[in-house]
Amino acid sequence: MGFLDQLSKTLTQGVDRAKFEAEKFQKTTRLQGEVNEFRRQMDGKLMELGQRAYDLQRAGQINVPSLAELATAVDQLRGALMAKEEELKLIQGDQWIDPAPTSAPSQAQNVPISYEAPETPPASTPPVGPTSPAASATPVQKACGSCGFQMPQTAMFCPNCGNRVA
Ligand SMILES: [Zn+2]
Repeated sequence: MGFLDQLSKTLTQGVDRAKFEAEKFQKTTRLQGEVNEFRRQMDGKLMELGQRAYDLQRAGQINVPSLAELATAVDQLRGALMAKEEELKLIQGDQWIDPAPTSAPSQAQNVPISYEAPETPPASTPPVGPTSPAASATPVQKACGSCGFQMPQTAMFCPNCGNRVA
């Protein structure tokens, strides 16, 4: 009987301990969430405070050397940011331009023996530009109203005759 009593007591203690740990976990998780939320709100207010201090400093309504230093740092970072955004926009605006029809003869020169030509093009025709996927994909094209030259939809001037097409 002594052994069974001891076993029963141990099992009960185990259940109590599991319950204790579960409740502790629940409480700490909830409190951690509340701590994070207060931290987030405080950061937001500090950011707002900084923005207002910046505005006041720039408007000349306050003149604090340490704020002037921070405001200058912000301006420099903004300048760098805008330069990078410009660079990004330029790269994003880059368009693949199909080579002019005059490139056909140079392709023919790459084929060494003329009677093999009919079977070689599918295998050996190299991509004409640096990016073969762009070359093989059919881009949206438009025709020049003056000379009929095919060009990318985004072109503003005809590469062939210079006619404005946008
Ligand atoms: Zn044209």
